[in-house]
Amino acid sequence: MRHQVTLIPGDGIGPEISAAMREVVEATGVGIDWHVQQAGAKVMDEEGTPLPERVLDSVRETGTAIKGPVTTPVGSGFRSVNVALRRAFDLYACVRPCTSMPGDGSRYEDVDLVIVRENTEDLYAGIEFEQGSDGAHSIMETVASAGAGTIKPDSAISLKPISVSGSERIVRYAFDYARANGRHKVTAVHKANIMKCTDGLFLHTAQRVAEDYPDIAFDAKIVDATCMGLVQNPNDFDVLVLPNLYGDIVSDLCAGLVGGLGLAPGANIGANQAIFEATHGSAPDIAGKDLANPTAMILSAAMMLDHLGEGQAAARIRAAVRSTLQAGDQVTADIRRQLTGSADGAVGTRAYGAAVAS
Ligand code: NAD
Repeated sequence: MRHQVTLIPGDGIGPEISAAMREVVEATGVGIDWHVQQAGAKVMDEEGTPLPERVLDSVRETGTAIKGPVTTPVGSGFRSVNVALRRAFDLYACVRPCTSMPGDGSRYEDVDLVIVRENTEDLYAGIEFEQGSDGAHSIMETVASAGAGTIKPDSAISLKPISVSGSERIVRYAFDYARANGRHKVTAVHKANIMKCTDGLFLHTAQRVAEDYPDIAFDAKIVDATCMGLVQNPNDFDVLVLPNLYGDIVSDLCAGLVGGLGLAPGANIGANQAIFEATHGSAPDIAGKDLANPTAMILSAAMMLDHLGEGQAAARIRAAVRSTLQAGDQVTADIRRQLTGSADGAVGTRAYGAAVAS
């Protein structure tokens, strides 16, 4: 049986790492029909939108996609393709395993934790009002008339919606994930001491859901203390469940514990569709130079193969990545720099992909 998969190469380093990923997946012999769909800045120029309907139709049809990063210009009206895709398919769970591998160049050993990030709500949902807009003024009036404080009149405003239903489903997902993957503890990460309404709701929902999972340990930690704990003792953590924005930030911190962004894979999961993508962005500073590390995208493909029921092929890919990193003589510049302090002797994206595929 052949699997139908939408491939969105993305921009920046996306096309390079997608090509390496595809070579590695094809080397496993798993039959995949790739439905290649372009999205992003270039498509915006040609089709008037960075995320044409044809891309959404393809993902709707195949149910499974793997995506390279897409650039979101800062402060422009260009909406984020990443956020739009998560919203279009209600991909509410962002799953990012962070696992040490020998030769990953990190200062840490034996890190093995999983970030489960809520993907649809919070400040990251992008409900924003420009400084000086009618929307911003009407919120200022509402806040003042409710006696909830004053907002400086020259402010822009972002809203932070966090719902019971959204919190409940992500926390349940984290516990179900822990059960299904032999993990022992879920930590809910929050700032409920300050944001009593929103993060308080998230925390109380997590505490209530945890009662349904007596076989899995539960604790809760404030986000700033979590960051320190992760840096000092990452082995204290197992599965972390976080609201959207903290999840975004803590994901990069955790990527740093296991060799950096070039090695950190991820998945965005909904009830009917799943889109797999690396944690990192489009890395414009190294795009088009055959410098990018495609490992995060390759390991995202391994997560996709697990999702498609091709667990053996996924395990073979992980083993191939491990042995290539461990051998250390064919690694990309980001890893080489961490291992030796210099990029001398590094190989390019293509050569690394070929080494993993061989
Ligand atoms: P980034 O992750 O692209 O890059 C941060 C740093 O990490 C850069 O120095 C980069 O060279 C390095 N890096 C990232 N991936 C690497 C890889 N595979 N190999 C080697 N080095 C790598 O973050 P940024 O610079 O903040 O974002 C660039 C653009 O990407 C922005 O427009 C942002 O909005 C977008 N972005 C997209 C996604 C996505 O598509 N899912 C995720 C994050 C950021």
